[in-house]
Amino acid sequence: MFIHNKRLQYTVRVGESNPVLGSLLLEQFGGPDGELAAAMRYFTQGLAEDDPGRKDMLLDIATEELSHLEVIGSIVAMLNKGAKAQLAEGAMEEAEFYRSLTAGGNSHTQAILFGGGPALTNSSGVPWTAAYVDSRGEPTCDLRSNIAAESRAKIVYERLINITDDPGIKDALGFLMTREIAHQKSFEKALYAITDNFPSGKLQGVGRFADVYVNTSQGVGDLAGPWNEAPMFEKIDDLEEVMPADGGDGTATVKLTRAEATVAKKMMERTASDPEVDAETGVDLGAGPGAGKVTGGEDKGTASDIKKAEKPA
Ligand code: MN
Ligand code: MN
Repeated sequence: MFIHNKRLQYTVRVGESNPVLGSLLLEQFGGPDGELAAAMRYFTQGLAEDDPGRKDMLLDIATEELSHLEVIGSIVAMLNKGAKAQLAEGAMEEAEFYRSLTAGGNSHTQAILFGGGPALTNSSGVPWTAAYVDSRGEPTCDLRSNIAAESRAKIVYERLINITDDPGIKDALGFLMTREIAHQKSFEKALYAITDNFPSGKLQGVGRFADVYVNTSQGVGDLAGPWNEAPMFEKIDDLEEVMPADGGDGTATVKLTRAEATVAKKMMERTASDPEVDAETGVDLGAGPGAGKVTGGEDKGTASDIKKAEKPA
């Protein structure tokens, strides 16, 4: 069960009203790397987790993320408090008010539609979606995803810190950013507490394909490093030599039943193309200069024809 404590995890001191900044901060309220996504990610993983250590950690962090949601949502509410009151009370001249809401942001949506409260959207007004949660129910996979999610959340906080000079907001965002660093550390430790954590899952890869680096983009700019050369990798430059990788003929085949093969042949015959037929089509009939008219006439336009056609005579 959840029990709510009325104190925030970190004190929110907002210097002045700023609905535009409030809109930007929604990125960490209802955005893909925001606190609700984080809370739902770890909460659902924790419910399904059987390992007592991971279950405990996931539920601890999920609950902390809800506390972060409360902090960031409170900052948004404080930034909008003045505008919300003016909207509700009709206290400002219409034009002046509209200008104050729309100055440089989308906070008119936030104000008009959501009444200035923290909305479960990202900073562009896109509604939160469970698709932000990409758990797969395998800890060696999900912990890596969690590590990446924490590093994304850290970077988004860093950008938000850089766009405000309000010391109270900077302070609270700095706390939230730092907690994501701590979570990343916990998830990394938990991942490496699983021995044989790579690759994810139970099946090992096919050995002769696992150590090969395929140099598919060749030419100036080719660079060697530990990510593509010995000792971990064998770099393949001559693609003709090794592809198809299985040594087969590289075609796609399937064994069909006699009935399937019969209709497949019929369909192929019905839709066969005849290279001898060069019909005049609507494209030819309507073609102007530069459109590539090739049948029934002379006009085969060039790029310079297009320029001529566009210029007034
Ligand atoms: Mn968080
Ligand atoms: Mn976190």
